[in-house]
Amino acid sequence: MLSVRGLKAGYGAALAVRDLSFDAGACAVTALLGANGAGKTTTMLAISGLLPVRAGEIRFEGRPAANIGNDRLVRLGIVQVPQGRQVFPQMTVRENLELGAFLRRDGGIAADLDRVFGHFPRLAERAGQAAGTLSGGEQQMLAIGRALMARPKLLLLDEPSLGLAPVVVDAVYAIIRRLAEDGLAILLAEQNVAKALSVASRGFVLENGRVIAAGSSAELGATDFVRKAYLG
Ligand code: ATP
Repeated sequence: MLSVRGLKAGYGAALAVRDLSFDAGACAVTALLGANGAGKTTTMLAISGLLPVRAGEIRFEGRPAANIGNDRLVRLGIVQVPQGRQVFPQMTVRENLELGAFLRRDGGIAADLDRVFGHFPRLAERAGQAAGTLSGGEQQMLAIGRALMARPKLLLLDEPSLGLAPVVVDAVYAIIRRLAEDGLAILLAEQNVAKALSVASRGFVLENGRVIAAGSSAELGATDFVRKAYLG
């Protein structure tokens, strides 16, 4: 579904992603793993068109998708949930969700709102509440819900566990698993390797902007250096 070959991206003179290649399949969770600064966020931003691709190729459903702009990528079905959630704090939960559908010209927005509220009953209870007053976990759910309103084919999730208590992380991951079971393709960037491998079918371990290991979740979980470096 998504193929990335020889990707280079970065900031100013510095390349944060040097020569990255990986694939993400349909109806599956693919994990980009690695420590702080490995290049996960940079990769996500380049795929979703929020950072220029300096070199390399990105293809989505067979079509070239590098440097075609975030709006077009959203229309093609690639939608990112940014790191740190970034909900609009003064707007209500419902308004934040409606914003997620802003590029859509089809109908069905009310039905999608119902579907999102079905996934996240807590958001339904708080539909009229200012998003800034939600807990961290609720804001993460809102950020995911807002992305779902754009009807993605591929959801990019950047560190959904960041800054959340373990029990809240579990709740967010239960939702990720359910979305994947419903057929959504997900590209998940995570430092929390154990958690990511619990939902992913395949994973790619990044270091210094390159893939240093790849395999099924079972294979990676059984690899010595992955266990030592990332699973404790
Ligand atoms: P994290 O989990 O901390 O987000 P990451 O794997 O997502 O880590 P990136 O955020 O992609 O890593 O960072 C890769 C490299 O790019 C790091 O060396 C980082 O310092 C650098 N970097 C990230 N954002 C910027 C920026 N806006 N300007 C300059 N350098 C940046």
